[in-house]
Amino acid sequence: MIDKTPLEQWIFNKITGRAGGAGRLTPALIASYQLKKLKETVALAREKSLFYRAALGGFPADKISSLKDLQSLPFTTANDISQNPLRFLCCSQDDIKRVVTLESSGTTGLPKRIFFTADDQELTKDFFHHGMTVIAKPGDKVLILLPYERPGSVGDLFAESVRRTNIMPVPYGIIRDPEDTLKVMAAEQADTLLGIPAQVLALACHEAPGENKFQVNIKNVILNTDHVPRAVVNRIKKRWTCRVFNHYAMTEMGLGGGLECAALAGYHMREADFIFEIVDPVTGAALPEGAEGEIVFTTLTRGGMPLIRYRTGDLARFIPGPCPCGTVLRRMAPVKDRVKGLVALAGGGLLSMSMLDEALFAVAGVLDFTATISFGSGVDYLAVKTRLAGWVGEEITESIQKALLSIPVVAENIKQGSLALTPIEADCSGRLWKPSKRIIRDLRPQSGA
Ligand SMILES: [Zn+2]
Repeated sequence: MIDKTPLEQWIFNKITGRAGGAGRLTPALIASYQLKKLKETVALAREKSLFYRAALGGFPADKISSLKDLQSLPFTTANDISQNPLRFLCCSQDDIKRVVTLESSGTTGLPKRIFFTADDQELTKDFFHHGMTVIAKPGDKVLILLPYERPGSVGDLFAESVRRTNIMPVPYGIIRDPEDTLKVMAAEQADTLLGIPAQVLALACHEAPGENKFQVNIKNVILNTDHVPRAVVNRIKKRWTCRVFNHYAMTEMGLGGGLECAALAGYHMREADFIFEIVDPVTGAALPEGAEGEIVFTTLTRGGMPLIRYRTGDLARFIPGPCPCGTVLRRMAPVKDRVKGLVALAGGGLLSMSMLDEALFAVAGVLDFTATISFGSGVDYLAVKTRLAGWVGEEITESIQKALLSIPVVAENIKQGSLALTPIEADCSGRLWKPSKRIIRDLRPQSGA
């Protein structure tokens, strides 16, 4: 029997405004609440934000009579934010408690800035607080392997939220030296970890299989990011015999979006704080339930910088049918790729980082890698640089080559002579790489990818 996600009760309480109230959540209740909040958000954005005053000029809130009307509103893109983030503000700059600056993923090259008021931060903390009760039990200790030094950073908000429960947070930060982290895990007797996939994998596979010098005992791992390779989940699960929960998060979403329940079969989303849509990444048209497309979200409760139909660039789908946990909340399948993450190879076919992730992270001893595509003399070159565990033998190079050839589009292009692999580079220094967005670097001229 799988426990129903506590997020259902949390969302019910938020929607009805009562804590522990009688009654139960229904899809109709969610829909009527979302419609009311959508109108409020559109009215607020049109009145206060310079960007939406222009973008939504022809879309007064009172013209919205059903959730379907959302589809007639224009999208907001990463470029819109990069170009002039201050135009999005619906409050005075004095009310902004935290600004997050993000590397550009758009075409302008300008960084994106995302603003949060204290109330916006409270929404995130409330979600982290209730999300944590999905995973850990009173008395558990969670080591937070995310940046926490700055007030309002993801690790700081998380630690503060966990303190509201009987679960104990241990803020640690980004892993630089796995031995140090393992020592802290052991000394603190942490049984739950919250971190970034490649970082947690580096920790799990730092020691050779079968060794446990540090005597760590992990029950639960929460992986916090947009895309989590299944191969990484499998290796962490196998190493520590633990549960691995995916948390779908991006800064624009207020650092928290959706979290898996104990069924570990897709995220339940923050449906009282967002409307999520899946659209065709090319045409922007709404897709039928269950079809894969780009995730688009609209904030319903954010006051500082509401976002309407924000295109995330992430690809996923809603899973039709009920979750094994029995909730009425919808389930989103884990994000697989980025819209711009697909690289067209010279000999035909598309290669994505997720294909490389699943193939290479399945090789024991591979802890991280980068991939670059370049072009010369009519041939694409795929260069893979790997970070390897200290305990691997020389045969790993062959295993990595084999793994790459197990990707059909790679094998096919090599067979045709339109793709070549450069020698695998290996970093066995033991130093962790700085976490970065997982994309294939495409250095080819005019690739348009
Ligand atoms: Zn569930």
